Amino acid sequence: MSIFDEIFGGSDSSSLENISGVENINGTVISGFNEYSDLSNANIENLLGELIPPEHLAGCPSIECTPSHPIFMSDAGILGFYMEGSHEIHISGHQNFETPANMEYTVMHEVGHNAYANYETENPQIIKEWERISENSSEIYDKTGLGYVSDYAMTDAHEDFSETYATYISDPELLEFMSPEKYNFMKQYIFGGTEYISTPLENSEGYKIVEKNIDSQLQSAIEQFAQTPFEKALASVQTSDVGPSIDDVFRCFDCVT
Ligand SMILES: [Zn+2]
Repeated sequence: MSIFDEIFGGSDSSSLENISGVENINGTVISGFNEYSDLSNANIENLLGELIPPEHLAGCPSIECTPSHPIFMSDAGILGFYMEGSHEIHISGHQNFETPANMEYTVMHEVGHNAYANYETENPQIIKEWERISENSSEIYDKTGLGYVSDYAMTDAHEDFSETYATYISDPELLEFMSPEKYNFMKQYIFGGTEYISTPLENSEGYKIVEKNIDSQLQSAIEQFAQTPFEKALASVQTSDVGPSIDDVFRCFDCVT
């Protein structure tokens, strides 16, 4: 069971009718989940459509469940990966995930890499602030054992961001406990003041999204990013049809908290 289950609802008949088809959300093609996972392409589309600010997917041409990809075949511990050059996201098959919720978490994690790449280009001061916070975490961890949402987040600032990003949505209470500073960063800079509240599964509400006011300076920084030219990002994708070098791929291990 997943805290995301409620948004799937099982009642979206229009999606069920298209059970074998690929889905498309703001230009990002979602495929392979019907064949290789316990989730459908429509489930992933709904998940992202409900929870992710659309600009976080800008420039990402595809999210594909591809368990036979050579990178997955090379190491069973890789759950997903993000290609910096092409901005493609690949997710491993259902056999690598204990639950659909774990797969959803990895999808969120990889989308976090795409959002990070977009901020690096369009709003590098936000990334500088993140790097400062992330670096500060090791000191906090040494003193208190807190600071990171997972062991994997300790890998580097990129993985820390993606782990924190996915946890902000899926388990915000955990993030707030482990690092109030990272929670506030995500709230103010990345999610435009939107907060996610997970509730026990037996509560049919599932989760709630609460909009909260943030100060105008932060709002303008966020809007600046929201107006990122999608064409620009797409152009970079279209010119990168050559396969990425090894250094251009984020292989994401153990992305489940
Ligand atoms: Zn990663």
